[in-house]
Amino acid sequence: MREKTKIKGRRNFIKTGLTGLTGAILAPTLTKKDKSLLPPQKKDRKFIYRTLGKTGIKLPIVSMGTYDATGVTNLALDAGIVHIDTSADYNEGNDERMFGQVIKNRPHDSIVIGTSIGMWQFRQAEQIKNAISVEKLREYIEGSLERLDMDTIDIYYLGGVQHKEIAEHEPYLKVLTEYKKAGKLRFLGVTTHKNEPEIIRAATDSGVYDVILTAYNFRKTNRDEIKEAVAYAAGKGMGIVAMKTQAGVYWDTREKKKMINMKAALKWALQDENIHTAIPSFKNSDQLYEALSVMENLELTPQEKADLQLNQGNSSTGLFCSQCEKCVPQCPANLDIPTLMRSYMYAYGYERPAKARKTLDHVDLSHIPCIDCDTCSVVCASGFDIKRKVTDIARLKDVPEEFLAG
Ligand code: SF4
Ligand code: SF4
Repeated sequence: MREKTKIKGRRNFIKTGLTGLTGAILAPTLTKKDKSLLPPQKKDRKFIYRTLGKTGIKLPIVSMGTYDATGVTNLALDAGIVHIDTSADYNEGNDERMFGQVIKNRPHDSIVIGTSIGMWQFRQAEQIKNAISVEKLREYIEGSLERLDMDTIDIYYLGGVQHKEIAEHEPYLKVLTEYKKAGKLRFLGVTTHKNEPEIIRAATDSGVYDVILTAYNFRKTNRDEIKEAVAYAAGKGMGIVAMKTQAGVYWDTREKKKMINMKAALKWALQDENIHTAIPSFKNSDQLYEALSVMENLELTPQEKADLQLNQGNSSTGLFCSQCEKCVPQCPANLDIPTLMRSYMYAYGYERPAKARKTLDHVDLSHIPCIDCDTCSVVCASGFDIKRKVTDIARLKDVPEEFLAG
């Protein structure tokens, strides 16, 4: 693995949240306990490992995203998870604090930690450059080091990059390189869940980054293009991590009667050998153990294959918005529909109402233009009823954030 680095003393941090106020969207996802998923002892397991590109780090194919998951972090690490991904963007930096606290008694050389500065909320590249100066980027990096209470972050990402010019922005590259040379950031990366193929290629060709964290799932409308870009990047030595493998969690919409077969969806992403590891998040031990079983066997059973084809030919449109932006020019009000659909997915799919509420802060909802439209002129690439979803999720804007969990 890597040289041992010191984890400094950490401050205590406890976040409390109120649950229950918003009823259905606050209800936790509970999966039926399956005894076959209980973890055998770590020594008995034969996990599949892949090397994270030129970083040389060998990782089990399943890693972990920490959003709202600090409760199962110790369990995950004990069971063999090595790489954990968090973000300064999650719960306003509090996930980094909580995660730092959770791992404070573990040797850093047993864990590979990734974190990021979030840039997804800006639709235009110029907005990012204006909002995040090089000084601000430095503040973010220092803030993550402090909140995690570490001397070195293993992988530091520019998070949610959707514009090629941001991945290539010289002033940012200079700061990142400076921190890497100083040993505070071990490897550099970008995360992308919009315009992925272009970002993956730009990041690869920049010669600065080591790792790409990309959205990748069987429901992405541009999955073939992502697959090609990932092959290109991996071929050039980039480490590739997959996120959003859960594809919105449900086949249907807010009724949530048809859950996607999460194990099959994770296997689908990891069957691409250019994906070195994936970072699903686990809310409970059942979800963790289900993912652990994927680490040993990637073969899709006939039933799992059938499950992944559920959406073919039926009217179920699900919750996953691919962020393709094809809707934006169709709306006369120029509504930021992709961000609203992202919020909808967080609320109803991932059951993270606080994150959904925070996401809405980036859309001007002082007036909801859909109210003035008799019919919606937008034809969504994923078949969403846009007007219904927009008016539904916009109600969350009126719920005070402190009442929401996740
Ligand atoms: S709402 Fe539909 S058209 Fe718009 S970004 Fe999402 S998937 Fe694409
Ligand atoms: S109803 Fe459709 S076209 Fe009208 S404002 Fe809403 S999204 Fe735009």
